[in-house]
Amino acid sequence: MTNSLRLRLTALYLAFFALLFVGFSLFLYSLLARELVSRLDETLSAELNTLMSLFQDEMEEMKGDAPAAAREAVTNMRLRTGLVAIFAADQPLASTTPLAPHEFDAVLSGNSADFLSALTRLGPHGTHAAGHRLEMHGQTFLLLAAHPLDSVAAALAVMREAMWISAPLILALAGFGGYLLASRSLAPLASMAAQAKTITEQNLDTRLDIGRPAAELAVLVDSFNELLSRLDQSFESMRRFVADASHELRTPLSVIRGEADVALSRERSAAEYQQSLATILDESRRLTRLVDDLLNLARADAGHVRLQVHDFYLNELLADCCRSVQPLAAARNLTIECRAAGDLQFRGDEELLRRLILNLLDNAIRYTPPGGRVEADLESEDGQVRMQVADTGIGIPEEAAPHIFERFYRADKARSRQDGGFGLGLAIVKWIAESHHGAVSLSSRAGAGTAFTVTLPK
Ligand code: ADP
Repeated sequence: MTNSLRLRLTALYLAFFALLFVGFSLFLYSLLARELVSRLDETLSAELNTLMSLFQDEMEEMKGDAPAAAREAVTNMRLRTGLVAIFAADQPLASTTPLAPHEFDAVLSGNSADFLSALTRLGPHGTHAAGHRLEMHGQTFLLLAAHPLDSVAAALAVMREAMWISAPLILALAGFGGYLLASRSLAPLASMAAQAKTITEQNLDTRLDIGRPAAELAVLVDSFNELLSRLDQSFESMRRFVADASHELRTPLSVIRGEADVALSRERSAAEYQQSLATILDESRRLTRLVDDLLNLARADAGHVRLQVHDFYLNELLADCCRSVQPLAAARNLTIECRAAGDLQFRGDEELLRRLILNLLDNAIRYTPPGGRVEADLESEDGQVRMQVADTGIGIPEEAAPHIFERFYRADKARSRQDGGFGLGLAIVKWIAESHHGAVSLSSRAGAGTAFTVTLPK
């Protein structure tokens, strides 16, 4: 079987049409045959009526001389085709065509099938006959009329011939029509395929356009275009990610290079070399952190991170995190307070959740001016754990809020970079919350502090 849909559709259409044509032709043929035979029956019965009245008249005239009356009546019939015959109870009286003895015997034995076959000589296509019984002068007569089926056969032959001649023509036309129809229906698909072939990563903003597509095709076009949009978006965000990452990597690398260049440009004191190496170490640490973050996000995107799930106490983890950022808060003259409503057992990836809490606390400390407060609260309700990290810091401007979880996004670019941030911390927080089937949300007023709330299902 061919693989071409167009040919398959055409073949199917043709097969269906041929079936319809054959069925309809057979129906017409049998209708015509029935009609022709019933006309013949009418003719036979009219001939029998005429023969009967002629015979009755002749019998009156000839005072009951049945053989003479029969001969006279038969002679007066003037038939163009077929025959009529009159029989007495046990013998033939007269017929328009002379009948052989066995033909009379066939009639007299009452076997009309034999009679009909005996009359085949009237025509090669068989004979149709009708009879009538008549009681007269105390005698029973049998009047018979027979016609060859030649005219019926001839008319049916013309019909058959017409069908044989027209069938190939009609089927050829139907096949051609089917092919055109299939081609027309499939043309938009071919156009879609041709357009799709021209779409590469360079022109992912192109959309398929096939004019005014039929409803079924519109669904396909829309789905394909939506797929293109999603691909376009993800390519765009990949491009942006690579560009942003390169940009972020450049700064520490150029600091390291610049520092080394300056240090090596002439002879320096040990203290100066120490200073340069310290700067280089600082920047290298920054670089390592950035590369770690990028690697984590890339792994998360590729779905390669498997959570190391186990049971632990979330309140203990929070307290632990608070202790570890305490020196940082103290250095910036901030008060930090962590509260938990009792023991809160949780099942999840402890190291990732530590990362989440540290990122939020780290941000809160970095974006809160000296003298401010940072508070972390942990509570559990309705099968959910809610953790809020709030500060009295600079807050996040309203226009920045929708982008705050995007990679490399910084609300206050200058300050964030100088504070050592890459704009990846919150993207990682969001990923960790979501990988635990939870969510993170922001409520902040510019100048009045920030609060991030993480909800995790238990
Ligand atoms: P960064 O490493 O730059 O802090 P994040 O993804 O952690 O990256 O945060 C993105 C941006 O959101 C930051 O650059 C900062 O502008 C803003 N932001 C995050 N947390 C706070 C906060 N607690 N208060 C004010 N602004 C914040």
